Amino acid sequence: MSIVTERIAIFPGSFDPFTKGHEDVARRGAQMFDKLIIAIGNNSSKQRYIPVDVMISKIKAVFSDVENIEVTSFSGLTSTFAKEQKANYLLRGLRNTTDFEYENTIAQANHHVNPDLETVFLITNPAYAFISSSIVRELEKFGADASAFLPYKI
Ligand code: ADP
Repeated sequence: MSIVTERIAIFPGSFDPFTKGHEDVARRGAQMFDKLIIAIGNNSSKQRYIPVDVMISKIKAVFSDVENIEVTSFSGLTSTFAKEQKANYLLRGLRNTTDFEYENTIAQANHHVNPDLETVFLITNPAYAFISSSIVRELEKFGADASAFLPYKI
């Protein structure tokens, strides 16, 4: 195990779109780490609802008041990207047991690829626990207003 000097965390996700639930996890995470990198996983084979470059600039605007948050995108393995960024922590949010089942597997796999990477989970704020990117997409697809779930205007 290496000695940690600067605590750098990445908060990876699809963020399609980035919601108030994601914002809550990121703001809380930024208080725990020296630097938090919000990283949009860019899987080019998958059609996005909001293009990556648009999403990056919207997220940057949300955190214009937070000095230690950076926003970027990456392709390939999360654990490899973490290594490139010299990040020793991977931040994820947990809403429910379904998230836990999924995150548990992913965390073990990431640790296998990069043993220096410690996954840290934040339990969701109950006020945002029901929000998901897929629900926002579904609401908007059928003309319902989902703006209350987003920390910016689409
Ligand atoms: P992925 O496709 O990688 O699961 P998401 O963008 O859906 O990416 O989610 C990124 C992270 O944010 C995950 O750890 C997820 O559990 C967490 N998350 C998603 N929605 C919420 C929410 N409403 N509150 C807190 N955390 C959330």
